[in-house]
Amino acid sequence: AAALELIQAHIRDVPDFPRPGVLFKDITPLLNHPQAFAAAVAGLVDPFRAGGVDHVVGLEARGFIFGAPAALALDAGFVPARKAGKLPADTLGQAYDLEYGTAVLEIHADAITPGSRVLVLDDVLATGGTGRAAVDLVRRAGGTVVGFSVLMELSALPGREKLSDVELHALLSV
Ligand code: IMP
Repeated sequence: AAALELIQAHIRDVPDFPRPGVLFKDITPLLNHPQAFAAAVAGLVDPFRAGGVDHVVGLEARGFIFGAPAALALDAGFVPARKAGKLPADTLGQAYDLEYGTAVLEIHADAITPGSRVLVLDDVLATGGTGRAAVDLVRRAGGTVVGFSVLMELSALPGREKLSDVELHALLSV
């Protein structure tokens, strides 16, 4: 409970970002507080330690920041899932819906060892579109998704429903 309060205390609400009417959850104060940052990483990985994890897939961009220390903590490899056109070698891509239009998420085609255990990780679960694309990509690459771990789920949005076939772990629900 103390760890969760420490984490919560270092997430800042920013009204009207990136657009009027949106209340943005800003995790940069948490990154700048070593105890809160460490508590967040521990909270993201602890439920998945026992079963073992081979790869942590972090979602661009804040999923990279949490994913890298999470991978080290789990003795797992780190795999970046990036927006289209950023990864240099052969990729697998998955389209997903945005509020206006679509986007494509990519991983390197050789990044996931077939049959391996994969934890997908991000800061915030909102509509679930990004997470859904990442889970589908990992499965197409032959990985087993052991979970999707986020700092925060926005419970007014349908992210959890969109990921109903995945073990979803959210440290905070707002
Ligand atoms: P979704 O695809 O709608 O679930 O959106 C999730 C993606 O948008 C994640 O990669 C988040 O980093 C980002 N995101 C959405 N809302 C917020 C927020 O309030 N704070 C930080 N990131 C957010």
